[in-house]
Amino acid sequence: MESLPILQEVKNVRPPVDPATLSHRNLLEGDFWRRIPAYANVTEAEFLDHKWQMKQSITKVDKLLAALQGIVSPGFISDAEAGFKAAPMAVRVSPYLLALIDWSNPYEDPLRRQFVPLSSSILSDHPKLKFDSLNEQGDAPVPGLTHRYPDKALFLALDTCPVYCRFCTRSYAVGPDVEQEELEKVSLKANKDRWESTFAYIATRPELEDIVISGGDSYNLRADQISEIGNRLLDIPNVRRMRFATKGPAVMPQKLLTDDEWFGALVGVVKRGRAMAKEVVLHTHFNHPNEITGITKRALDRLHGEGVIVRNQSVLQRGVNDTVEAMQTLVKRCAYVNVQPYYVYVHDLVKGVEELRTTVETGAMLEKSVRGTTAGFNTPTFVVDAPGGGGKRGVHSYEFYDRTTGISVFMAPSVKPGQYFLYYDPIHLLPEAGQRRWADPAEHNKMVQEALDKAHASRH
Ligand SMILES: *Cc1c(COP(=O)(O)O)cnc(C)c1O
Ligand code: SF4
Repeated sequence: MESLPILQEVKNVRPPVDPATLSHRNLLEGDFWRRIPAYANVTEAEFLDHKWQMKQSITKVDKLLAALQGIVSPGFISDAEAGFKAAPMAVRVSPYLLALIDWSNPYEDPLRRQFVPLSSSILSDHPKLKFDSLNEQGDAPVPGLTHRYPDKALFLALDTCPVYCRFCTRSYAVGPDVEQEELEKVSLKANKDRWESTFAYIATRPELEDIVISGGDSYNLRADQISEIGNRLLDIPNVRRMRFATKGPAVMPQKLLTDDEWFGALVGVVKRGRAMAKEVVLHTHFNHPNEITGITKRALDRLHGEGVIVRNQSVLQRGVNDTVEAMQTLVKRCAYVNVQPYYVYVHDLVKGVEELRTTVETGAMLEKSVRGTTAGFNTPTFVVDAPGGGGKRGVHSYEFYDRTTGISVFMAPSVKPGQYFLYYDPIHLLPEAGQRRWADPAEHNKMVQEALDKAHASRH
């Protein structure tokens, strides 16, 4: 028998990496919030108190701008003021979020970009954009319940969130109305009668096994509402799996550490589900590694200690997480705190945030770069949520993709057989020739028809 070579003789052995390069493990610690003048005297106990975080959350533009006086330039303040005036989404920012933004470089900061709009970066919406671009209303048999896929449904239980994200795909319903009058929002308030009709519908649909409880945001459900919704759904025999969706851990991890009633209610539903051999998990929404701090780790350790599975869904955004470095670090940092990266969404066509969108090509490039860096089960699937209601499609799975016009064509044979769904890259990132065609409205339908014809031809 041939003997195995001893380690020193193996030429291609991997040398150990310098631990300093494992930056996904470097979580922000200490009293970082004291950098914000308004929080200079806030103690750790106060900062960790979810009630303090909720009460101090900023919901008025002038209050937000007042908190920034002296730490950003007057030019930045007027830029943001004008940005908010034009924005379709309401303002709500937690002190925790505010303190994580690097205000010495606010134009570039990945968290600022997600929550504070600037007039100077506004780009026109894509001409093919519609308000509810995913057509969630069109697939709703009961208001606030979207039943698009065969065995799973999306339950929009309420319409408020602990913060409001500029890029929210549900700006058609979520948050208080904003100044712009033409944007009358669909009402999806937390309402028992509406919930009853939802439970009744789910109970009459034997095929429904999996319910996503979203909104809005499950963080804003009271503890008794978490128990009510969770237990009512667990009691429906055909329901086998459910997920509470919340951005909370990314924007206010304090609640998981100090709101024992809410935490207990969630864990109660998870444990009751487990005893019934049903799965109840938490889905959250981290977009950038800076959103994961030492506080986040302690909060997630508490969930992990109770056996609660947490998965992450990110939105791909230009200037936030559209580089290989940012996306790899995000994925590895999520895994490090026991959050499984589940999806990265190519940004939906959403009003007023064109500068945050990027191309399908960028999504595909990032997918290639992330796959292979860590465990397969911690590698997110990169998807396009097909406009018009095709559902999530793998970013590489288009039938046809024209990089000049930015039109990609998808099919969803098990969701809406025979239909084509089109996604549109942002025009400002297209090559010159594509930009020129979009500048001429007479070309729009021609480009769409060309893409559809080529998609059709490629299948025959
Ligand atoms: C995303 C989504 C779901 C859940 O889909 P998964 O791929 O299982 O995460 C269900 N219904 C709707 C309408 C959705 O958009
Ligand atoms: S937390 Fe979720 S639902 Fe709420 S505004 Fe942000 S993206 Fe939209």
